[in-house]
Amino acid sequence: MNLRTTLAFFLLLAMIPAVSPAGRLAAQAMPPQAPPPQAPPLQNSLGYSDFSTEALLEEKFLAVPDPKLAGEELKILTVEPHLAATPEDRKTAEYVAGKFRAAGFETQIVPYRVLLNQPKVVRVEAWDENGHLLMSGPTREHVAGDSAADDPRVVMPFNGSSGSGDVTGEAVYANYGRIEDFNELAARNIDLHGKIVICRYGSNFRGVKVYLAEQRGAVGVLIYSDPQDDGYSKGDPWPIGPWRPETGVQRGSVQYLFKYPGDPETPGVASTLDLPDSARITNPAGPGGSEPHIISIPISYHDAAPILQALKGPSAPQNWQGALPFHYHIGPGGTRIHLVSQQDYQRRIIWDVIGKIEGSQDPDAWVIVGNHRDAWVYGAVDPSSGTASMLEAAHGIGALLHQGWRPRRTVVFCSWDAEEEGLIGSTEWVEQQGHSLDHAVAYFNVDVGVSGPDFTASAVPSLKEFIRGIARSVPSPLGGTVYQMWQLKPSANNEHRQSNAPPIPGEEVHVGDLGSGSDFTPFLQHAGVPATDIGSTGPYGVYHSAFDDFAWFTQNADPHFVYLQQMARMLGLEAMRMADADVLPYDYVTYAREISAYLEAAKHRASDAGLGSLDFAPAQAAASRFSAAAQRLYAAQAAPSGDLAQLNLALRQTETALLSDSGLPNRPWYRHTIFAPGENTGYAAVVIPGVNEAIDARDQNLAAQQLQVLTQALNRAASTLEAAH
Ligand SMILES: [Zn+2]
Repeated sequence: MNLRTTLAFFLLLAMIPAVSPAGRLAAQAMPPQAPPPQAPPLQNSLGYSDFSTEALLEEKFLAVPDPKLAGEELKILTVEPHLAATPEDRKTAEYVAGKFRAAGFETQIVPYRVLLNQPKVVRVEAWDENGHLLMSGPTREHVAGDSAADDPRVVMPFNGSSGSGDVTGEAVYANYGRIEDFNELAARNIDLHGKIVICRYGSNFRGVKVYLAEQRGAVGVLIYSDPQDDGYSKGDPWPIGPWRPETGVQRGSVQYLFKYPGDPETPGVASTLDLPDSARITNPAGPGGSEPHIISIPISYHDAAPILQALKGPSAPQNWQGALPFHYHIGPGGTRIHLVSQQDYQRRIIWDVIGKIEGSQDPDAWVIVGNHRDAWVYGAVDPSSGTASMLEAAHGIGALLHQGWRPRRTVVFCSWDAEEEGLIGSTEWVEQQGHSLDHAVAYFNVDVGVSGPDFTASAVPSLKEFIRGIARSVPSPLGGTVYQMWQLKPSANNEHRQSNAPPIPGEEVHVGDLGSGSDFTPFLQHAGVPATDIGSTGPYGVYHSAFDDFAWFTQNADPHFVYLQQMARMLGLEAMRMADADVLPYDYVTYAREISAYLEAAKHRASDAGLGSLDFAPAQAAASRFSAAAQRLYAAQAAPSGDLAQLNLALRQTETALLSDSGLPNRPWYRHTIFAPGENTGYAAVVIPGVNEAIDARDQNLAAQQLQVLTQALNRAASTLEAAH
């Protein structure tokens, strides 16, 4: 899923400093056999009393991940389309399991039985006001020069979790389908009841577009890729350049994952093979469920253009105009659309692959590395570049195991299935582990591993400095370290993973906040496991299309697979450094500082919303108390000595203390009081979500109650740190 892709890249391109194109060329011109540039050895690292042994181990590890092998792995993973729950998906599970076993991991393929749709019939037809046929589709994805897209196993474009049905209605254009776009339509008295909304990809999660349209009475949604956002207006389309060609379609899930992700029938419960049907909810498309009931269909701009061009009604506002060569109108009027969607909903078997290395001293403390494996089609970038990186990280760790090393804590490598349909494999696994994850010390995610040379990271605030430290230890294919290259573009990379706190003075590189759209969500936001998400990005216009294939990857993203190697090194070092630390290297000083900034911002929002009488003082006092306790402990973390078990336990429990048992209002599955996916954004994080969303709804009582929940959580976290020594 993970659309920190499309829009992120536009922003990225716009902001790339002059150094980058040259850098990119240098990377591509680099022969695969060039000796890797060396990163300077790190003198010390938070949580280690003496880093020298670990530094030697890390050096050994860094020498193993291999670009050539990573390229071969990517090729094997992308040789066939491998949609979740298909035989080809099963083959990739066995391939990954084989690699884990070869590395010496105790490996299992873990199945779940989950509700998934596959398309039987998808049809779109449109007529003008005189009844002349404007288009009939969807048109099959095709470009001359990339025959992979012509394979009969390429699934027709559809939306995971779409409703089934047969509807006809007038079209209304809703720009990106954001809440402000729907508000604009309402302000113009455009009634959406019985209408078919046509909107473009970008800005928010596609499930949010469908949710907002459904709430306003629309009977269907067409979501298309405008060339302004990831097509010819960005640059040359594939197969000349990296951008979306005329027939390219972005598939994707429209599940309401901001309510809960995972199997729509089993929120909070693992869909194990023996789970009785009576334990499943009966109507996931009903109130409280995560499934839309209306139809939605993703289309190319080839198919959208005739519809948009024939639309009458008022002119679209300037910022609603895309890059198609005519003036856009809002409608209704001018076009009538007929949509047919027959979705085959069945409980299907999916397969996670789990590989474990038992820790020598603290086996219950798990360091988890994860990446999804299923793809809409070939998925070269999303997710196979992440999988190839993870396999080379496993290769490197396996080499150390074969030399007799054991990590102090348990390391778990996970290859998730059915992420694309709604983070399903990871969510079911997290739900199955239950309280075992109270001891899991970190979850390190990678999804879109490599689409270009620009490193980007998001993390819970306690791990933002940790991820910078890892980047300082990994060489960049461009020379110097990943960190040094990151400094050249410190904050441009990721529209969906902005940081919600202002940078501290002197901060060189930006680490974003975790919203949703990938598998870190169940870990952080349901189970309270500290998490990070990393990737290496570039211009990428073929997201979720048949063209995200090996040929696209080698032409546009990483011809010599050196960024796969870089990401393997990043992931592997994250796992090793966390697994071996004497004291968990969480930085709660930064966490407390960011929470104070969130509170300050929320206070301003409240007063702007006319809720100036809300009392923020208790929450601010709790945040200050948390900050003082964090500063006191930081000194102990920096110079660990004595019996550290109790200190480690307290450090880990502090994140759990930020969960609330009752969860967020209207979405109890989301339990984290500091981070959740925004109800109206889906990808981007909303911070202190209970409070901020109540303020946005101008609900004074709820905001006051949520401030109280937050204050209690912050005081719990502070007490946990205060009790440690
Ligand atoms: Zn993905």
